[in-house]
Amino acid sequence: KEFKDLNLKPEILKGLSKMGFRKPSKVQERALPLLMADPAQNFVGQSQSGTGKTAAFVLNVLNRLDLSPDMQTKPQALILAPTRELARQIVGVIQIMGQFLEGLIIGTAVPADSNTRPARMACSVVVGTPGTVMDMMKKRILAANDIGVLVLDEADNMLDLQGMGDQCIRVKSALRQTTQIVLFSATFPEHVSEYSKKFAKDPNEIRL
Ligand code: AMP
Repeated sequence: KEFKDLNLKPEILKGLSKMGFRKPSKVQERALPLLMADPAQNFVGQSQSGTGKTAAFVLNVLNRLDLSPDMQTKPQALILAPTRELARQIVGVIQIMGQFLEGLIIGTAVPADSNTRPARMACSVVVGTPGTVMDMMKKRILAANDIGVLVLDEADNMLDLQGMGDQCIRVKSALRQTTQIVLFSATFPEHVSEYSKKFAKDPNEIRL
């Protein structure tokens, strides 16, 4: 299987080829058809870092965005990661993979400065840690109504951090019922599997 067999937008294929990505990795080959199916279905994937999982969820997100002028400033996808450093890395991957997509605006969730009244986020994709994202939603800086995809990267690591599981659940409950939930985790100990069952209903699942 090749990237061009996956129904990706031509601008995305161009980004992949500029990055030197020739063929999908194993996790991409298995996950992408499930992630990209319409109507969108929830997804739970087990995959270590280094296997290409970031590209798998980023490609699905980029391919689903409506970048028409009236939509490109509306958050349509939200990616949660356990640390700011990982969030920054994901933003970097989106920037480079989406470099040929006109109208792509990427927003990084940063803690709001309490002295100024922050503007609403005008972007198509938002990446951040759960606490900050939850806070931005509460303050109405981040609009939830157009978010069609929610990704949890390193779900096992997020659940190991105090309070993050609850924050993820709060974020999710602000989204539409139909939002596609995508969860990646390197491991599935009991607590992660329990959580993922509650979090993503009837998912397609892959284990590598
Ligand atoms: P990840 O598992 O997302 O941390 O990705 C691991 C590394 O593999 C990153 O440096 C990616 O740039 C690289 N990578 C991911 N997918 C591909 C691919 N299809 N072809 C070549 N390199 C890839």
